[in-house]
Amino acid sequence: MAAQVQLGYCDPGQEMAWAKAKTNAGRDQRKGNAMRIAAGLIFASAVSLCASGAAWSQTGAPKGAAAPQPVPAPAPAAAPKSAAAPQAAPAPAPAAAAAPAKAPCANPNALGIARIVEIDTTGGPGFGFEHFKQLDFLREHEVVLTFDDGPWPVNTPSVLKTLAEECTTGIFFPIGKHATYYPEILKQVAAAGHTIGSHTWSHANLNNKKLTEDQRKEEIEKGISAVKWALGGAPFAPFFRFPALQHPPEMVTYLGTRNVAIFSCDLDSFDFKASKPQTVIDSVMKKVDKLGKGIILMHDFQKHTAEALPELLHRLKAGGYKVVQMRAKDPVQSIAQYDEEILKDAKLPTVSSRPVSSVVQTISE
Ligand SMILES: [Zn+2]
Repeated sequence: MAAQVQLGYCDPGQEMAWAKAKTNAGRDQRKGNAMRIAAGLIFASAVSLCASGAAWSQTGAPKGAAAPQPVPAPAPAAAPKSAAAPQAAPAPAPAAAAAPAKAPCANPNALGIARIVEIDTTGGPGFGFEHFKQLDFLREHEVVLTFDDGPWPVNTPSVLKTLAEECTTGIFFPIGKHATYYPEILKQVAAAGHTIGSHTWSHANLNNKKLTEDQRKEEIEKGISAVKWALGGAPFAPFFRFPALQHPPEMVTYLGTRNVAIFSCDLDSFDFKASKPQTVIDSVMKKVDKLGKGIILMHDFQKHTAEALPELLHRLKAGGYKVVQMRAKDPVQSIAQYDEEILKDAKLPTVSSRPVSSVVQTISE
């Protein structure tokens, strides 16, 4: 986990050697901003208040405007699997089928959810004032909690537990590979009613000049297909965050053609640099108090963030901050070619396709 991206934005490049490559980030981001501004204002209606909750829902379960249902207690600290490829194919059953009914919030002092907004991702609107300044939809003291780089054992379930205790919610941007390592954890995220987007296949810095355009697209699309696989085909949001907030202009444009919204952030916790949980809390509170609102970038992958979250949410509540849930109007559409690549990664072409139960029988126990 030593390979952190030293670019002054966000996100450890923990999975990727190529994430360490130097980039001309500032120049490319300015270009990207110009392109987005040129393309941009037609999407000014991209955010709409979702008052009825009648629109498409993340898990397929009926949703009202109330707090999300509690999640299960954290899973035991599973040791990371050693295999780098998905463990099984075909894809597991949809999480939607197992989504529990919504329970009322049991915590009278919970942070809760103040407002739910529905995002029309047509044309790929950008969010987060660090890079995209067209869509200023948050009111004073409103925040959006976002969590990158999961799913990961212990830390992601801990974040889910804290969010459930506070009857609040966030957007998760999982790394495709991590989703294939731990699909059961990503299913817990979906079952708890949180919004799920994607964050590339392997956390590649897409500004790396060594990557071809096809490789950049593959990073984006395999990331989407991997999340789809992990969720068993259940719908999730066309929300995307570039690793390390590196926005190559041509990929920003490409996502527009794919109707995928792009998420930068308003304030970066820099939690991956924190030496202890208190640093995460202090960093977020200082920045949010200065800005007064914003999309907050954190990492459910990070231990310190998981540990900091209970106190951080208490501090946000005490400071008068309110959480806004962002949902997508329509789910993301994956591309079949990349779905097949995920399946290819998941298994070698053995001739037998018989289910486990017909191959392996317990005869003594
Ligand atoms: Zn990341």
